[in-house]
Amino acid sequence: MAAEIISGTDISKQVRAEVAEEVALLKSQHQLVPGLAVVLVGDDPASAVYVRNKGRACDEAGIFSETFNLSADTPEDDVVELVKKLNADPKFHGILVQLPLPKQIDEKTVLYAIDPDKDVDGLHPFNLGRLVGGDPVFVPCTPAGVQEMLMRTGHDPSGKHVVVCGRSNIVGKPVAMLLLQKMTGANATVSICHTGTADLGAITRQADILIAAAGRAEFITADMVKEGAVVIDVGINRVEDASKKSGYRLTGDVDFGPVSEVASAITPVPGGVGPMTIAMLLKNTLASAQRSASTNA
Ligand code: NAD
Repeated sequence: MAAEIISGTDISKQVRAEVAEEVALLKSQHQLVPGLAVVLVGDDPASAVYVRNKGRACDEAGIFSETFNLSADTPEDDVVELVKKLNADPKFHGILVQLPLPKQIDEKTVLYAIDPDKDVDGLHPFNLGRLVGGDPVFVPCTPAGVQEMLMRTGHDPSGKHVVVCGRSNIVGKPVAMLLLQKMTGANATVSICHTGTADLGAITRQADILIAAAGRAEFITADMVKEGAVVIDVGINRVEDASKKSGYRLTGDVDFGPVSEVASAITPVPGGVGPMTIAMLLKNTLASAQRSASTNA
């Protein structure tokens, strides 16, 4: 039987509408407008699209956003200086540095310069540490989006075996850490697979919830999925497609058609985890502004 499609487009609309309501409340009760600063270094076309989409989403939710464009050859020190300036600017409650950064810039140096209280991407070691400790402040946006999708579609991970394919610091590790916590929306048994995993299929076939975040186009095939599993596809891959004007199409890490015959529920690409990531960025920015309103009250 074909799987239920978990639409990130639909769920993210609900989340964004809820954020917009809260933003309006914050404005009327505290005369405070949440603000997000986005730092974009270089001219990577995919990053430019992501940044534009984030800006639009902020506008729609009533969040003030400003993008700081720096040229591809900007020295690391200049990026860090900008981040420090933004840390000190009270109109910004969130700072996001769009990744990847050009080669001459060490990602960690820049991310670690962000004030943890404004780290709406949740990638500063303080926030990753708080997540591991079971007391999160800002949860990284993509993992938070995955959890939100599961909960809003009745697929509570509690007691389930979640298998994560991928161990990056922005998706694989934090989503695993999030879902294993003893808290609502989590409490799962979690396995993490990666390039060193022997016999990947033997592990993925045990998954009640399978999260694919390896960045390998359609590498999760139907034979790697247990009948009735819930499949969350984080991957966004460009594959050549001569039938498209652009010459490529976007595809996930999951072989969608055959896997949706085996799974009970599945996220599409595009229209799955991607829109949720943006929605959770708005939610984190709102939460930061709300915290600032309550400390200054
Ligand atoms: P990454 O390249 O940093 O990490 C990929 C991870 O997958 C690595 O830890 C690696 O060990 C593992 N891996 C690679 N090949 C594997 C294999 N054959 N078997 C098992 N594990 C394997 O990537 P990332 O930043 O974590 O992103 C992963 C994917 O998710 C990419 O396609 C990226 O574009 C996408 N992504 C999507 C969103 C979104 O909002 N939907 C957000 C972030 C990343």
